Amino acid sequence: MSLRPTVDFLLNDWLGVEALNQRERFADHSRETFDAVLDTCERIAREKYAPFNRTVDTQEPHFDGERVVLPQATHDAHQAYAESGMLSAAQDYAIGGMQLPYTVEAAANAFFAMASVSIGSGMLTVGNANLLMAHGTEAQKRVFALNEFAGRWSGTMCLSEPQAGSSLSDVATRAVPDGEGFMDDPLGPRFRLKGNKMWISAGEHELTENIVHLVLAKIPGPDGKLPPGVKGISLFVVPKKLVDADARLTGERNDVALAGLNHKCGWRGTTNTLLNFGEGRFPVRGAAGAIGYLVGQPGEGLRCMFHMMNEARIGVGMAATMLGMAGYHASLDYAKNRPQGRPVGPQGKDPSRPQSRIIEHADVKRMLLAQKSYCEGALALELYCARLVDEQHTGAPEAADEARLLLEVLTPIAKSWPSEWCLEANSLAIQVHGGYGYTRDFPVEQYWRDNRLNMIHEGTHGIQAMDLLGRKVLMENGRGLQLLAKRFNATIERALQVPALAAHANALGQALAQLGAATQAAWATGDPAEALANAVPYLQAFGHTVLAWVWLDVALAAQAAPEGAARTGRLAAARFFFHYELPKTGAWLAVVSRRDPTCAELPEEAF
Ligand SMILES: Cc1cc2nc3c(=O)[nH]c(=O)nc-3n(C[C@H](O)[C@H](O)[C@H](O)COP(=O)(O)OP(=O)(O)OC[C@H]3O[C@@H](n4cnc5c(N)ncnc54)[C@H](O)[C@@H]3O)c2cc1C
Repeated sequence: MSLRPTVDFLLNDWLGVEALNQRERFADHSRETFDAVLDTCERIAREKYAPFNRTVDTQEPHFDGERVVLPQATHDAHQAYAESGMLSAAQDYAIGGMQLPYTVEAAANAFFAMASVSIGSGMLTVGNANLLMAHGTEAQKRVFALNEFAGRWSGTMCLSEPQAGSSLSDVATRAVPDGEGFMDDPLGPRFRLKGNKMWISAGEHELTENIVHLVLAKIPGPDGKLPPGVKGISLFVVPKKLVDADARLTGERNDVALAGLNHKCGWRGTTNTLLNFGEGRFPVRGAAGAIGYLVGQPGEGLRCMFHMMNEARIGVGMAATMLGMAGYHASLDYAKNRPQGRPVGPQGKDPSRPQSRIIEHADVKRMLLAQKSYCEGALALELYCARLVDEQHTGAPEAADEARLLLEVLTPIAKSWPSEWCLEANSLAIQVHGGYGYTRDFPVEQYWRDNRLNMIHEGTHGIQAMDLLGRKVLMENGRGLQLLAKRFNATIERALQVPALAAHANALGQALAQLGAATQAAWATGDPAEALANAVPYLQAFGHTVLAWVWLDVALAAQAAPEGAARTGRLAAARFFFHYELPKTGAWLAVVSRRDPTCAELPEEAF
């Protein structure tokens, strides 16, 4: 079974992505060039990623005392990816890019995530380089970002610390000016950093010649104390090996040391590290302290980081989606081949009959259709958000501003919804396999383990929920929510004209009204502690309502397509979502609306 027909349908029949080539930036592109990119990525993912997904799980990265060792397959996959040009796909022609729309880039990267999410496809490197392109000096762009896009160096994002995960305001890494003339370094104001960064993905390896760390740290005030809160956080580019202004390695090792590898539940193809900055393990020019160059202005570090967050979070949502999809395809294949049980007729079961294949049982069909509705719905949502990113960057001013605000509201959903529900899809894929699914002889347990990360990193589920209800639906006087409602209503209007979809349209209209009322009720007392006590049920209801809208819109496109199994399947997945999933929002919104204090008020000793 191939992912490609689903991607093609969503990109072309639903989103009409080809129309983007009417914009100046994409004028050289066409359906043919988009297809060629998808073909290449599909092929590399099939040849260099999928066959090694289990290898990278069983051959966990290890430190041999000198270097971190990864399987050869990871090196080969990284090289193939870099050579494909995908690291710079969205960049200008002038710097070697393809000026590819982000929507197509995201769709192309989906093949790698499905084949082997943890071998990775350069998401961190691209995010790191994009950030430098937006906030770096000309020298920082030329030296660091361009070499990352070229695949010569790779990138990391160093935010978290052992004591500062969700609460980045407590970052304790300190950065002090590096002696006289620190302002005059060609690579930017030069500082010395000291501190520990926890959980850093791809923080140490030999895949590339150098590693470019982007590090959040605080510059102490005149009293030597670190400024409190997020406003005191600055951003630094800290290469593992020092380089000159012409991007040549100087031969000096920077004072960044691997303190240890984390041994993870899944996603083992990517190293995860505790890094010590500036502890003196590799003194530079006779002194301890990692050399780092300031990016942007002091105190603007988190703002610079968040500039890239929408795309990073769509990337996480896409990873979760494709892991769910991989499990769906595996369990569908299994269900078509596994004989077990017999149909129940009016006279009970007839043991003389041959066994059925499990796909013939209604409950197995339920589990498969649930997976299909979660994963294909999530893929549609991610591509929709990617299309909004293109609109934000290349649309007319009013449309671009609308896309920006819609993304603000939708990004917590794009990150969190697949992380929860495509993980649930992976659990169902195990269930479809029965006992075999619980063994390492089948791939589905690994998909679940790999996917379990996504509710944790890039802002936990709880943090995303508070961002949505505490900030995003309120910002600009609720205009984001109003814009979203407008889009929902446009879809509802169209679906009301199609008899087969009219009931779904009405159900979505009711769910939207309930969501609006619950948002107001949550904030009725204006007390954030009360409003946010049930932020996660709110996130769940909001996400399910968004997915119902996405499915209704996709169903409109499916309805217009020629008869066939694919059309029947899409319409059934939409129906499943409306009949089995959307009604759940009522229970979630009930606790939100009455600001239910059951959890918040329980004293610790009662647990
Ligand atoms: C495999 C992996 C890869 C990672 N890669 C990177 C990386 O490359 N770079 C990087 O910087 N970080 C990375 N991280 C770190 C990741 O972003 C953090 O783990 C995450 O932000 C949560 O922080 P924490 O682990 O300290 O958990 P905590 O912040 O301690 O949270 C624990 C629990 O408490 C909840 N909680 C915390 N605060 C609140 C609150 N105010 N209100 C309600 N609930 C709250 C959380 O939702 C969570 O359920 C990675 C993590 C993992 C596991």
